[in-house]
Amino acid sequence: MDRIIRCITSNGSIMAAAIDSTYIVATAQQIHGTSAVATAALGRLLTGASMMGSMLKKKGASITLKIKGGGPLGAVIAIADSDGNCRGYVDNPTVELPLKPNGKLDVGKAVGKDGLLGVMRDFGEGRPYVGQVEITSGEIAEDITNYYAVSEQIPTVCALGVLVDKADISKVLAGGLLIQILPGADQAEIDKLEKNISEMEPVTSMLASGMSIEDICKTALKGFEMEILDEFKVGYACNCSKERVERALATLKSEDILSLADEKGFAEAKCQYCNHTYQFSKQELKAIAEAAHSK
Ligand SMILES: [Zn+2]
Repeated sequence: MDRIIRCITSNGSIMAAAIDSTYIVATAQQIHGTSAVATAALGRLLTGASMMGSMLKKKGASITLKIKGGGPLGAVIAIADSDGNCRGYVDNPTVELPLKPNGKLDVGKAVGKDGLLGVMRDFGEGRPYVGQVEITSGEIAEDITNYYAVSEQIPTVCALGVLVDKADISKVLAGGLLIQILPGADQAEIDKLEKNISEMEPVTSMLASGMSIEDICKTALKGFEMEILDEFKVGYACNCSKERVERALATLKSEDILSLADEKGFAEAKCQYCNHTYQFSKQELKAIAEAAHSK
């Protein structure tokens, strides 16, 4: 399992969350067979979603992040619950691109800049809250920072890192940091935080050097008194079931539902988040179509 911690300065002016998301990203890589750059893009979005999920405060709530920038990956989607457990997928998981001149994976180009980052919070009561912003870089962390600034007016620092082993892309190291300046922070505190951030190494470098997520939060909040608010054990988790797949099928037209059956009279539907396969007989498809269109 991976871990998230959330910390707050003792005067309540700054909140920081840090995650080691290595297992989550390795699991996503395995399920979806993602290329290096797709692993980095999906992994960063999952890492961000997991931290944002852990901040939802209401049990059973969920957050969905969708970034679609016109790049070769297509849409990248991540969903997290209020415990930080998450799942996701990318439209085109096998896209490969040349590295950037600095040797880094070109996530920005793979995602593209021509489109939106959408954030949907669902508290399970009526309509979900939806916000969206134009993509700034496609590098994902910057886009989440921009989302908080534009859509929620919360000054935020977001850092997300996914390191993919060049020889064996199933080997990854991943983590993230999300810092929010809360109402009541004064300029001296903001200046101190900015100085700390500017001196920090990338999250994956800190994890690779053996730092814990507690160490990472302490480094970000150097010079502040801070306490740990809570800790979450998090993982890649899907909540699919045959009933959920049925509900998704029911949104199709009757003739399309019935045409899914093959010559043997069966249809298979695969969960796009975990690749679990569900089988439906012709009779079941007929029942779904009838129930859906008799309303
Ligand atoms: Zn699933």
